[in-house]
Amino acid sequence: MSARRRVVLASANKGKLAEVQALLEGSGIELRSLSEFEMPDVEETGLTFVENAIIKARAACVASGLPAIADDSGLEVDALGGEPGVHSARFAGIHGDDQANNALLLERLAQVPGSGRSGRFRCVVVSLAHAADPAPLICEGIWEGRIADHPRGGGGFGYDPLFVPRGMSMTSAELSPAEKNRLSHRAQALRKLIERLTMAVA
Ligand code: IMP
Repeated sequence: MSARRRVVLASANKGKLAEVQALLEGSGIELRSLSEFEMPDVEETGLTFVENAIIKARAACVASGLPAIADDSGLEVDALGGEPGVHSARFAGIHGDDQANNALLLERLAQVPGSGRSGRFRCVVVSLAHAADPAPLICEGIWEGRIADHPRGGGGFGYDPLFVPRGMSMTSAELSPAEKNRLSHRAQALRKLIERLTMAVA
């Protein structure tokens, strides 16, 4: 049996835990929550999504003594040279202030017409077998779209009220949770990772 059979998710977010748990159903992998362990605050000092995901996964391995899965994600806007990117959660200065982040995004794009408002959500998920694992599994999911000119919808979180997925007219905040979980960058990345993890435990 592989060391990856029981894994901890490096997140205290209940929504994320439920999403990953649903994707893992029937995989033979048992997911544990980071909230079961004593976890110090981790500074996401990486310049890339991959670095930040590894930082979080490694800290979760240390705290739990288990293999860990971590994700890091953000919004990249072409007209802003890829910003907010790894700074997505704290674009306007305060970590997790979604309203301020969205207001700043609209302000920065005020002079950019619809055709130039392309962007994407990117998510990187990693799995570490242990804190010193020299060969992390790394998978990525990308959800292409564009930035609306005003917020719409009450679902989701973060930039969802401003993100219009490619081929749609609704924002991701107007999608049902099930629809978003089917399409999102995070779901795409997690599905790839789970496929590789289940191959490893088969
Ligand atoms: P995290 O790495 O999943 O914590 O995401 C970092 C930041 O990226 C969040 O605080 C949001 O601002 C943004 N973000 C990531 N995924 C999404 C999403 O699915 N919808 C909206 N915003 C997102």
